[in-house]
Order: sequence, then structure tokens, then C-alpha cells
Amino acid sequence: MRMRKKKNRESRIERCDELLIHEPFPKSKWNNVFNNQNPIYMEIGCGKGGFITGLALQNPDINFIAIEKCVDVIILALEKTKNLGINNIKFILGDATILEDIIAPGELCRIYINFCDPWHKSKHAKRRLTHSNFLNMYRNLLEPVHGELHFKTDNAQLFEFSLNEFSNDNLKLRNITLDLHKSNFDGNIMTEYETLFSQQGMPIYRCEVLF
Ligand code: SAH
Repeated sequence: MRMRKKKNRESRIERCDELLIHEPFPKSKWNNVFNNQNPIYMEIGCGKGGFITGLALQNPDINFIAIEKCVDVIILALEKTKNLGINNIKFILGDATILEDIIAPGELCRIYINFCDPWHKSKHAKRRLTHSNFLNMYRNLLEPVHGELHFKTDNAQLFEFSLNEFSNDNLKLRNITLDLHKSNFDGNIMTEYETLFSQQGMPIYRCEVLF
């Protein structure tokens, strides 16, 4: 997500400081951060936060952690969360590659990935968030047996690549659709990218992966 450099970046982040978790990360102690024993779901690459805030409002008994690597984007997600008075989301400014330093094995129940960068060139395949290296990491972070990954994209090539990665990993799939908005899937929460792409008439691909 390309963004213009935000004005007053530091002071804007400071105003939302209680929502942003810094190092040292509370690995294995996220329940203490939220001050309850509720299940924890994570979104990787939350962008401007429209999806995670919508989900958190609908699910007050779930805790959410959102990781986003772009500071100028996470500011908007932080401000949205603060303005809505949401207290079941915490944010991490960082890259998904460091997730194992942040989250303990089995600490997550679900991971959401929405409209991640497709990394068109095959020499960059390892950067795709559905590459088998990432799947191995997710397997470790997700609780055994019930862990799930929910994935949406507008990109047919990335969806095809991802289905092959899931299949090579013997993962079970559920609710696969090649056109989410024309499917009978209930309760979809739109992301910012999803709104843009669907306004252009593009179909949205979605599936759920059972770990
Ligand atoms: N999920 C949002 C944004 C999609 S764009 C939406 O659907 O509207 C992809 C987002 O993921 C960008 O904001 C980008 O900065 C972030 N991102 C990409 N790779 C990442 C990574 N490895 N770790 C954390 N964030 C990442």
C-alpha cells in the first residue's frame, strides 16, 4: 500500500500509544495484555484497519492482534481503532517475518490475510505470505487442531499459487470461492482493497485453510 508520508507522524502515533505494542514483545503473555483469556486472532498486513475494526466490533469476546509493516498506513488503523473506542485490538508495527519473536507457539486461533502483495516475479515467491515457509511458521503459531487461516485476494495467480502451497502442505480447505461477492458466503467484512477492486468489477477469491 503506497501512502504519502504522514505529517506529525510521531505525535499521531503517540496519541494511540496504548494500542501499539513495542519490544520487548509479550510472547506467550498476550492474554495478560488483553487482561482476559479470550481466543486471539491475528491479521497480517491490516492496512488502514477497516477489516480488523469491523471484525473486532462484531466479536467483543475475541482478542485481535494486527501486524502492519508500513508506518504511514498503521497510523490510520490506530486512529480508526481509537476513535471507535475499540479495546480488543492491539497493533504491531513490523514485518510478518518476525512473528515467531512476537507470538508463542499455539498462541493464535486464527490468522487473516487480505489482499497481500502478489510478488509477481517467481524469484520473489518466498515473499508471498502464503509461501510454504510462511505456512510452516503459521502452523507453529496456531493452536494445534483448530487453527485456521482465512485468505482473500483479487489476484488469480496468487490464489492459484496459494492453493498449490496449501495442497502441497496437505492442508484441508473449506469455503473456497472464485467470486466471493456472488457466493452465498455470509457475514463478509470488506477491506479497503476489496472495496477498490470490487468497484472495478473484479471478482474476489477466498478460502479458509484448516491447520
Ligand atoms: N489488508 C488491507 C491492505 C492490503 S495491501 C486491505 O485489504 O485493504 C497489503 C498490506 O500488507 C500493506 O499495507 C502492506 O504494507 C502490508 N504488508 C505487506 N507485506 C507485509 C509483511 N510482510 N508484514 C507486514 N505487513 C505487510
